Amino acid sequence: MADEQKDYEQLLDNVYKNLPEKAKHSGERFETPKFEYFTEGNKTIVKNFKAVADKIRREPSMLIKFFSKELAVPAEQQGERMVLARRLTGDMVNSKLEDFVSRYVICKECKRPDTNIQEMGHGFRQLVCESCGARAPIKG
Ligand SMILES: [Zn+2]
Repeated sequence: MADEQKDYEQLLDNVYKNLPEKAKHSGERFETPKFEYFTEGNKTIVKNFKAVADKIRREPSMLIKFFSKELAVPAEQQGERMVLARRLTGDMVNSKLEDFVSRYVICKECKRPDTNIQEMGHGFRQLVCESCGARAPIKG
């Protein structure tokens, strides 16, 4: 009797264990990825540069240009990394990344990151949202 009870509980246990874990829908709020970086001599090296560019779906060259201009420092891509020719302290690198994302990635209307950049010619660009269809001119 006692054994049967134990078997039954064990069976239940197994059933629960084998239930697929509910998919977590974090979806609604986009979290800006963070750069992982370190300094070496007079340089700041962003290790996960390419991964972050992929995640926010922007051309690495656009990010390079932005960082170089915003931080007034030469920047270049080296494989998966971005190398900034200055030792940067604090979390300047990630706060600039947040600026970039809010300017060039997040839709102003629905706040989602599912956007792309459309060249309009004559140097004009638009941020086009794939979720809600909003369009916003990009400055700079
Ligand atoms: Zn939108």
